[in-house]
Amino acid sequence: MENNIQTEVQRGQARLQGLVALITGGGTGIGAATAAMFAREGAKVMITGNLEHHLVEIAQAIEKEQGIIAYTVHDVSKEADWKRAIEATMAVYGKLDILINNAGISGNLSATLEERTEEEFGKVLAINLTGQFLGIKAVVPFMKPGGSIVNVSSIAGITGNAGANAYTASKGGSRLLSKGAAVELAAKGIRVNSVHPGYVDTPMVRVMEGAQSFKEMAIANTPLGRGASPEEIAQGILFLASKEASYVTGAELIIDGGFTAF
Ligand code: NAP
Repeated sequence: MENNIQTEVQRGQARLQGLVALITGGGTGIGAATAAMFAREGAKVMITGNLEHHLVEIAQAIEKEQGIIAYTVHDVSKEADWKRAIEATMAVYGKLDILINNAGISGNLSATLEERTEEEFGKVLAINLTGQFLGIKAVVPFMKPGGSIVNVSSIAGITGNAGANAYTASKGGSRLLSKGAAVELAAKGIRVNSVHPGYVDTPMVRVMEGAQSFKEMAIANTPLGRGASPEEIAQGILFLASKEASYVTGAELIIDGGFTAF
């Protein structure tokens, strides 16, 4: 019994040993929690994001814990930026095994279809959906068989939501982009899956208009009666990224405390 427990712990400590992971939006929220967890699991991590000071803060915290981390500023909606982010990763680590397409914005979550401007709709799609497509396109030439891509979608990619039309469209697109990519990239030995968080207390939901009433509504409709921590989402991302999920591709992992269960 003792031996088994020991084996489990050892396995747990090295679930990503020696693997290189690029995590977009890694300077805050779910991305930062994922970066810290991946580094603890032995991965060499590259975090990217818009704002350098967020990246520096997280990189310093992870380095302090003896994790291996680098960062690069990167707008996921720009193809040229993807080229630079991959070049930076290859220059630092020499390979790329895992991509976590996590960066995203909510846009206005209470604009009716008539109120939403074409410009804002396009911006949400450009970051949340086109950004994930560009990421997959950019990394595939560098990934070997065994590579894993995880797209962070949302429960808003599963069910509709009044006022969140742009976000919902982008996250629904992410869900099926993942499945299409899973089918296409299976021949190269690359797995692609999506993660669908429910309410998570991160900067995204803290700074939005009507943050408190949104939180109350979300929690009132969550059977477990609370929001998730970023780490609870990172655990699902870690599973899909790791070899433990070697037969999982095209799957959608809902981590929502039961929100979509009824
Ligand atoms: P967050 O802390 O606001 O994280 C979003 C990250 O995306 C930030 O680090 C931000 O970087 C980055 N980002 C935004 N636009 C970018 C761009 N154009 N290029 C590169 N990076 C960009 O919120 P979060 O909750 O952790 O969100 C992470 C993912 O989870 C998102 O895809 C979100 O849609 C999804 N999600 C969140 C929830 C929730 O309740 N929080 C629920 C379901 C799904 P900077 O800080 O540098 O701007």
